[in-house]
This record gives sequence, C-alpha cells and structure tokens, in this order.
Amino acid sequence: MTSRHLVPILGFAAYSGTGKTTLIEALLPKLTEAGLRIGMLKHAHHNFDVDMPGKDSYRLRKAGASQMLISSRNRYALMTETPQEESEFHYLLTRFDQQQLDVILVEGCKNIAFPKIELHREEVGKPWLYPNDDNIIAIAADSQVDDTQLPQLDINDLEAIKQFVLDFVARKGEAEKQSTGSSCCDILSPAFLSVVQGQEKILSLVNTVSETEACPMQQSYTRVLAQDIISPVNVPQYTNSAMDGFAIRGDDLKCEHYQVVAEVLAGHAYEQEVLKGQAVKIMTGAPMPLGADTVVMREQATENGDKVTFNGVCIKVGQNVRQAGEDLAIGSDVFTQGCRIESAEMGMLASLGFASAPVYRKLKVALFSTGDEVQAPGSEQKPNTIYDSNRFAIMGLLEKLGCEIIDFGILEDNEQVMIDAIEQASQQADVVITSGGVSVGDADYVKLALDKLGKIDFWRINMRPGRPLAFGQINDKPFFGLPGNPVAVMVSFINFVEPALRKMQGETNWQPLKVNAIATEDLRSRQGRTEFSRGVYQLDSAGRLTVRTTGKQGSGILRSMSEANCLIEISPAVDTVKVGECVTIIPLQGRI
Ligand code: AMP
Ligand code: MG
Repeated sequence: MTSRHLVPILGFAAYSGTGKTTLIEALLPKLTEAGLRIGMLKHAHHNFDVDMPGKDSYRLRKAGASQMLISSRNRYALMTETPQEESEFHYLLTRFDQQQLDVILVEGCKNIAFPKIELHREEVGKPWLYPNDDNIIAIAADSQVDDTQLPQLDINDLEAIKQFVLDFVARKGEAEKQSTGSSCCDILSPAFLSVVQGQEKILSLVNTVSETEACPMQQSYTRVLAQDIISPVNVPQYTNSAMDGFAIRGDDLKCEHYQVVAEVLAGHAYEQEVLKGQAVKIMTGAPMPLGADTVVMREQATENGDKVTFNGVCIKVGQNVRQAGEDLAIGSDVFTQGCRIESAEMGMLASLGFASAPVYRKLKVALFSTGDEVQAPGSEQKPNTIYDSNRFAIMGLLEKLGCEIIDFGILEDNEQVMIDAIEQASQQADVVITSGGVSVGDADYVKLALDKLGKIDFWRINMRPGRPLAFGQINDKPFFGLPGNPVAVMVSFINFVEPALRKMQGETNWQPLKVNAIATEDLRSRQGRTEFSRGVYQLDSAGRLTVRTTGKQGSGILRSMSEANCLIEISPAVDTVKVGECVTIIPLQGRI
C-alpha cells in the first residue's frame, strides 16, 4: 500500500534563502551520532544531473539506459530517467531500502501532505507557512509567534531541533508498534479502491465486441476500425503541379524565352512531350506533362504573347511538383485496427477511394435512472421530486462515443421492478448503466436487486466527487451503477465508463489527454483521495496555460460541469496546490 511506510517521514518546509540545506547538513551528524539511520529525499525544482558529462555512467545513460545503476566499493547509485513526468512522492519513498533506515527526512515537496518542521528567518522577509499548512507540526525560527499551539524551536539551536527529531521518530515508532496487528484502516478493504485500481479492474473485465461490419463512409464518424487499412492507391495518383505556373524541363532551366505550347487545368492533361525551349502553362493539381519535371510559379513569370521568361529567377530542378505516391504510396500502412474514425480519418479513407470502412459493430448501451424522487422532464413538477438530469447527461456522453442508446427511463424504488428491468436490459444491450442508489444508506432494494441479478461489487473509490460505484456483470454484460449526484455521475463516467466503452468498441491506444496548467487560485484536496474539481483553463497574457475552478464544487451543482472546460486532477499525494503552482488538468473538449 503506497500510503504506508515502515519508517517515519519528516520534512523541512521553508522559502528558499532560509538555509534549509545548511541546517540539515549541520543536523545530520548530530542525528547519526544519536544512532539514527537517515534517508534523505530532496526535491529539485530544476533539471539536474548527478553524474558529469564524460563519466562512463553518464555516457551509458545518455546512450539510452533508462535505468543506470553504478556501483563501487563505497556506494551505489541508481539513476532512473523519468521523461514522461516526475515520479510521485509515495513511489519515490518506496525506492528507499526502509529496512536500513530509522527516518526519512525530506527537503522540498512542500505541497505534499506529511509532517514538516517549518524553518523561518525574519531577514528572508517571507510569510509564515504554518497558518495555511496543517502539515506543519513545529516551527524553528529566529523569532517567536503567539498565535499558535505548535512547538517552537530556535532555528539556531541545533541541539533542540535534534531532540525534536529524535522524539518524533521515537513517538512514531511507538505508534507504529501499537497499530500493528489491528493492521490499518479501511484503505486495505477490497471495497476501497484508488481511481487507478478501479480503472484497471474494470478494463481487465471488459472485452471488445467481436462482430464487425462495413460502414458507409457517410456514417462512419466515431466508428472504430476493425482492420488495418493499407493504401490501395498512390496519393497523389499522378505527379502534379503544386502551384499555378509553368512546367518546364529540368535540363532546360537557362532558356531566354520559352514557347508556351499548351495550358492544362486540373482534371486534364497535355498529351505530348515538353521539348527544350517549351513551357506548359499549368494549374495546381494538373498532371505534369511528359518531359517536364519543374514548375516556376506564375508570380515569377513574365508572359508576353505565347512567350514566357523567368529572368533572374532562381529555379531548382523538381521544384513545385508533387510526386505520385508522395503522401501515401500504394501498399503502405494508413491506419491500424483500433483507430477511431474522426473527421480527418473520414477524409483520408475517402481519398483512398473507400466507400465504406470495416468497423466494429455499434455498442448497445441500456440506460436507467433510479429513485422515487426522480421525475421525467416534460411534465409539471410534483412535490418532493427532482427532474431526471442524469439520464440525459449520460445520453450525451454516450452519443459522443457513438453508442446506440436503449433508454429504459426511470425505475421506481422497487426490488422486483429493478430486477425485471435490469434483467431485460442485459439481454438486449452490451452494457447496462444506472445512476443513483449505490451510496451507503441508500434504500436497500437497489443493492438487493443487484445482488440477486449477478456479481456486483459495491466499491468506494478514493475520489471526490463520485465515491460510490457499483460494477459487475449481469448475464456476462458489464454493469455500471453510477452515483446519484449529477456531477459525480459525469466524473465517474469520464473516469470509469468511458475507458471501458472505448475498449469494448475496439479502440486501442486511447489515453485521456492530461496537461499541466498553473493554478491561479489555491486548491485544497485531501491526502489519500483524488480530487476532480471543475476548472476553466485559458492562456494568460504571457501565453502560459492557467487554470481556475468554476467556483462552488458541490457534487450536485451540474452547472459547474457546464461552465468547466477541464477537470483539475489533484492526486492523492497532494493536499494543497498554491497559486502559481502546477496542477494536472484533463481537458473536456470532445469528451462531454
Ligand atoms: P442516491 O445515490 O440515489 O442517494 O442519489 C444521490 C443524489 O443524487 C440524491 O440527491 C438524488 O436525488 C440525486 N439523483 C439521483 N438520481 C438522479 C437523477 N437521475 N437526476 C438528478 N439527480 C439524481
Ligand atoms: Mg436514490
């Protein structure tokens, strides 16, 4: 479990200029003298290289070793390249051999939630961190503050800091001993999953439909190719002019006056050979006449009756000509199986002469809402009801993915009605999706019904919004029981249902787009859970990608989803993101 570590973790938080490294450097000999075996984790903001250009390890690493372990009599060092993204804090901690350590001290990583001592010097002139950071457990400073209960140490009294660290390690060791046996918390219960665990579990349990069909190009948008596509033709089919201009021979560039012998438009051809001293007036896309291999653009030509001159123009043999098969040669790979057909793919398939595409059959998805309080739109609102929004939001999401929707409407809170309807849905559809009725404390018949129907697990995902999720199989068809709250429904769909549907549709190599943006407001989360806030990203005046939230983030406020153009994803290891810091965003364009 990533959140459990064998040894205590203690950090030092401070603004740069406070002398963090100098202090820790002076502290370490005192701690090792007292018997502590210390691991250090230091976060560097900038790129760094631990070995020098020219060293063997450096050369081998640069030559392509993604992990480089160098060892000698006195030490070894493992350098691991992480070109995609920086490793997660908890993962990094697992890299230590914790059996050999009593404590891991951390310098940096100030957004990550774990206990820290704040270092503060008045002359640095920076604000205090502790008022906004619950992870600070003590202060070491050169001045006193009176608005806090935190232990205060003198930053210049290394003995006192040493003692604090020793006490901290001893206290943690004691707590650890007491908790072993009753071994930790519900995080280990199988019903409690991280977002990634939930995604992986679901993906491992759904399969691509096996049936395929030929789909007319006009209807192929969002369909998924069931076969590789090989080009049956050359694109372009024939060598042609890339410009409006004059086609001449490459061995005849120096002629004073060329005789214009013909004019060819696209779709036509000059059937004779172009001879020396001759030029053919040619339009973009028209086939190059025999003998000619070079085009001089019209803007560089001086026409005089049936003569043309290119005085002073620098002409290169072969210029402004598109060769047959230059874009795609006959027999070359165009698309691979599992590629989703969107506008460009439609155009390209058509350009190769395909009137239809070999695709997987459409996925049929049955859809329900549940709850006695849920009322269909279109009739006058009854007391104590809400209009059904989930079914329609999900319809839109399914539409985007090109699914065929079977709408089963709203199910009343009645066990037998549920059982019958879901049973029937699973016969007709490839996937069944419901919303509502899966959170703790919900009317039991929803769960009873699902229990009777097949193997359904009720999960609690460590995320917000969207903690409850039911997933399982009914008549071998995947079943998703989404939460009831409208935002939670959409966020759960995006995270769990969409990847599964894409796999079932046959799409391969799909990954949700994630990019980094700079937060323009403080974002709070909670350690141990993934937070998906609704965000609006935009480029600021300096051209940097920034993001803010849409405001109130209640999971019933569907408007936040409508105003958002991204989800802001705060990983479980992070508990606050401060203004100016980077955060992961998931753009929503094309997905909702
Ligand atoms: P539940 O998980 O069934 O307790 O639902 C959680 C919340 O979501 C409740 O406030 C429900 O009223 C609401 N809810 C459930 N289904 C829908 C729906 N189809 N449309 C809008 N809100 C819903
Ligand atoms: Mg309900």
